[in-house]
Amino acid sequence: EIYNEIQELKGNLRVYCRIKPRMPNEGKACVTVVDDMTVRIADPQTESSQEHEFDFVIGESASQEEIFEEVRPLATSVLDGFNVCIFAYGQTGSGKTYTMEGPPSNRGINYRAVRELFTIAKERGDEYKSVLKVSILEVYNDKLFDLQNKRSSSKVRWGGESVGVVIEPLLRTAVTSADDVQTALEKAYLNRSVAGTECNAHSSRSHCILTIFVDATNNATGNVVTGKLHLIDLAGSERVKNSGVEGDRLKEATHINTSLTHLKTVIQGLANKSHHVAYRNSTLTSMLQDSLGGNCKCLMFANVSALAHNVPETICTIKYAAEAR
Ligand code: ADP
Ligand code: MG
Repeated sequence: EIYNEIQELKGNLRVYCRIKPRMPNEGKACVTVVDDMTVRIADPQTESSQEHEFDFVIGESASQEEIFEEVRPLATSVLDGFNVCIFAYGQTGSGKTYTMEGPPSNRGINYRAVRELFTIAKERGDEYKSVLKVSILEVYNDKLFDLQNKRSSSKVRWGGESVGVVIEPLLRTAVTSADDVQTALEKAYLNRSVAGTECNAHSSRSHCILTIFVDATNNATGNVVTGKLHLIDLAGSERVKNSGVEGDRLKEATHINTSLTHLKTVIQGLANKSHHVAYRNSTLTSMLQDSLGGNCKCLMFANVSALAHNVPETICTIKYAAEAR
């Protein structure tokens, strides 16, 4: 319930830090929890340490369930007509996909949030008729692909204040359970251009956006409340060493870097209630234009590794998150 508690003070943006658990033989932790809102990073290279503040810090031993408790209020918001974005940001291997998707035996935020949407919709009973649909998109090299439609190209445009973002063409699949969404995701992943181990590499070089569209019609008044929940597994944030990278890899790295920088700028604008936010500078921020401002809610996970050799990237991730706040 932390999200609601600090709502009054902090506006509509939260940044949580999640530390990925180490394996038994991976050595000591360089990233540790000081308290609920503070992490300490010990840099073995410089033998110095620094502390950083977040809205919430999640240690190595936290369960998927505990984490979802800090996210749950956002699901209610969607059914109340808010547009909500939940991002996972961090270097490849830091636990973004685990946090959002999770393994079948220990589902992450996507599954739990969708399940919560259905539970709340049901609790509201006969007063509302709720219809849920999903779209699954990928942003690769600043281009948009519909993973539910054979990875065909889509375009984003701004449909005006009352319409918001329009993506065309776009497949939206009706769903009636969290398992339906899971099935849709698994099918969509088959449409990523590559298979097997290459698929993992590809997924860390593209942003994946699972969107749940909610229409709740009040049966008595006919009033329709619409909300959107964007669940976003961002591309790996690691810096590509300049030496030796060229061609496709360099192009990908450049697009990732630029889009993550634009995202940070837009989120900063949201936090500062700025009036001139440069949404159109990248495909990712364009498609989220009606979900990252004004009356929207946003949660970003800064996923980090606790290991010594990841410290330089961990510091970058934490800096990014601190700047976004
Ligand atoms: P990313 O998506 O950031 O590249 P992953 O989520 O794929 O990283 O995580 C990398 C590896 O670490 C995977 O094998 C994943 O199962 C494991 N992992 C990540 N986070 C956790 C966690 N909280 N608990 C257990 N295993 C985890
Ligand atoms: Mg991943």
